[in-house]
Amino acid sequence: MAIVSEFSLSSHYLGCDDEKNAKAIQFIEEMTQNPDRVQERVLAEILGQNGETEYLKRFQLTGAKDRETFKSKVPIVSYEDLQPYIQRIANGDRSPILCAHPISEFLTSSGTSGGERKLMPTIVQDHDRRQLLYSLLMPVMSLYVPNLDKGKALNFLFIKAETKTPSGLVARPVLTSYYKSDHFKNRPYDPYNVYTSPNEAILCPDSFQSMYTQMLCGLIMRHDVLRVGAVFASGLLRAIRFLQLNWDQLAHDIATGTLSPKITDHSLKECMSKILKPDTELANFVRNECVQENWERIITRIWPNTKYLDVIVTGAMAQYIPTLDYYSGGLPLACTMYASSECYFGLNLKPICNPSDVSYTIMPNMGYFEFLPHNDSASARGSHSPEPRLVDLAQVEYGKLYELVITTYSGLCRYRVGDILQVTGFHNKAPQFRFVRRKNVLLSIDSDKTDEAELQRAVESASTLLKEFDTSVAEYTSFADTGSIPGHYVIYWELLMKEASMAPLPEEVLNRCCLAMEESLNSVYRQGRVADRSIGPLEIRVVKSGTFEELMDYAISKGASINQYKVPRCVSFTPLTEILNSRVVSVHFSPAEPHWTPERRR
Ligand code: AMP
Repeated sequence: MAIVSEFSLSSHYLGCDDEKNAKAIQFIEEMTQNPDRVQERVLAEILGQNGETEYLKRFQLTGAKDRETFKSKVPIVSYEDLQPYIQRIANGDRSPILCAHPISEFLTSSGTSGGERKLMPTIVQDHDRRQLLYSLLMPVMSLYVPNLDKGKALNFLFIKAETKTPSGLVARPVLTSYYKSDHFKNRPYDPYNVYTSPNEAILCPDSFQSMYTQMLCGLIMRHDVLRVGAVFASGLLRAIRFLQLNWDQLAHDIATGTLSPKITDHSLKECMSKILKPDTELANFVRNECVQENWERIITRIWPNTKYLDVIVTGAMAQYIPTLDYYSGGLPLACTMYASSECYFGLNLKPICNPSDVSYTIMPNMGYFEFLPHNDSASARGSHSPEPRLVDLAQVEYGKLYELVITTYSGLCRYRVGDILQVTGFHNKAPQFRFVRRKNVLLSIDSDKTDEAELQRAVESASTLLKEFDTSVAEYTSFADTGSIPGHYVIYWELLMKEASMAPLPEEVLNRCCLAMEESLNSVYRQGRVADRSIGPLEIRVVKSGTFEELMDYAISKGASINQYKVPRCVSFTPLTEILNSRVVSVHFSPAEPHWTPERRR
């Protein structure tokens, strides 16, 4: 029997919620007692299912399902290695290429390849695996926060645009797929998972209408709200910003019991007509709170029964912790799970811990996991030493860093996810990991991930506009500015003019350079700018000639070797940003939105 089906949490299965929670905890205990044995079974199950696929047949496993044969014959790969296979599936080849089961759709990752979201194959059965992990979250949370079944969650959840591959398979982000699935839409009643947002609001494709009605429902049910959240910290801050910009209209709707004419979606209008009733007292309350200059603790002022914020603040999202603390008065920040389009990995068994102590326990039933020992200094030097051997989940060592490599039911074999994790401890025999970072990510505001090569290309592309002015970009660096919401990329440019006496560049040219950079960045960035509005216009700050030499002088004064010094392509260290900001001679913003449509460029 497949491991995923050994544990079912649908409410008809168990009568009582406490009993259901206890079963979930017991399941976690069982899975973590002997992760090695579970992993062995998972791999055997995957190879039993996919051993005869075109991909695996190439490696002549000849029916073997054991780890040793698998590891000795199947190579470690990255997305680019699998892309030709994935492209064939996308183009309509229905033969068992990567997976014996039909690929039901593609999940579009926020990680990109060649500027477009990576396409991750998925199968119908993956829904159950993901659902299983979701069903463990509230039972764990209830161990730490009592009575969460006595109220609601204000969770800002959104779907994103989807597209179709040439053969008609849907391609969309994993959460869009989940929210649109029957698992979510027809979820059985669970008192621990009651949302203030109706399905119609979550499923509305227009991000403004979706956010507006979710916020409106959150305000109407403000006393019921026990937790406030979004998937990532940036999403929750976007909701707060939305409230800052729209509270007047929201209060008007509440006062009159009528919905803003900006809400045009029919099913949303119908659903809101049952929820929205005139309430002058609530409207006055909202106005009184929101009109104030000071928005400190606004979350607890409006939703006074909030016990914690349900948002991921690990990894790149850690930059938002101070702002969330400001708006919530330091409520606990619960990072509950660690997942990706490729595979859902695990959960945080101590969700009410300090963000710096968050560790995720990878659930050994979700896929087959291997770990590539990671040496930060070796990779920084571009060491050519042979790649170290991968170790199994049960063999990772405390304190060490690893890159995660996965083998999934849907056909990824020994695939490098690109996440760097550190072992922080064990739950029973299962290791727990701190999310250290994603490899090669230089800049990130929301789910965008821009690497050094992309930034370099964007600078090169924009600087072609400077040629006719006999000017070039001598040096550059960048900074993810999250001081205001939405955050935006700041690129510092030191310009080199052919003749020092030349007139400064026309303002409009540098503005166009900002847009040219944006046009060159990946589709997740451009979608964030255009559709989600989760990223603000890109900014170029031109700095005085000699500024980058000062940066180098600073680094050398702190002990850097002059021979090995490289210009950092991203800065966050305050003394460096202070040097840069004090030398700014002009500031430019992108004057328009870059081009973005759901269709892939290639
Ligand atoms: P996507 O495939 O677009 O859903 O992105 C998945 C990636 O998001 C993972 O590989 C991680 O890099 C990142 N991620 C997911 N969950 C977490 C988490 N809890 N903390 C930090 N980063 C995360």
